[in-house]
Amino acid sequence: MAPIATLSCKESFTISHYLNSPLLSNTANKRVYGECNNPAVHSHEYTVEVITRGTVDTSIGTVMSLSDLKSLLKSTVANKLHGRNLDYEINFFRTVPSTMENLAIFIWQSMKQDLDEPELLYEVKLTDNEQNCVVYNGSGGYVQRKGQTLLTSDTD
Ligand SMILES: [Zn+2]
Repeated sequence: MAPIATLSCKESFTISHYLNSPLLSNTANKRVYGECNNPAVHSHEYTVEVITRGTVDTSIGTVMSLSDLKSLLKSTVANKLHGRNLDYEINFFRTVPSTMENLAIFIWQSMKQDLDEPELLYEVKLTDNEQNCVVYNGSGGYVQRKGQTLLTSDTD
């Protein structure tokens, strides 16, 4: 049996956002979102690790081209995220909160769309200050329809 391995790379970026749900009271917003419920612009520096998993192609010794993975992650981060205000500049976050969980899902969906072999995508790990971490592996998700971000289950 051919060996199976993971291959990953990391990229850091800065975003700004404001978390405030119209579904929650002011008190609940503060409790759920903490400092991120401050309407003054604030930013976060995140590190994202994108992990692929697959069969090691024994003729070339890799799961996939590491330089392809690196440049795809770099361009996803540089073109779609770094320096952006997620709530105002990224359509995806117009109707879903710009939490770490949803940001990991956004990165997953962007990478999945752009990878030559999307089935190799295994996990997206998003870390804030090396203290908080979200891991997303493609379970459930969202789709974009007419400018709205909807749960995949709402579109079946
Ligand atoms: Zn925040």
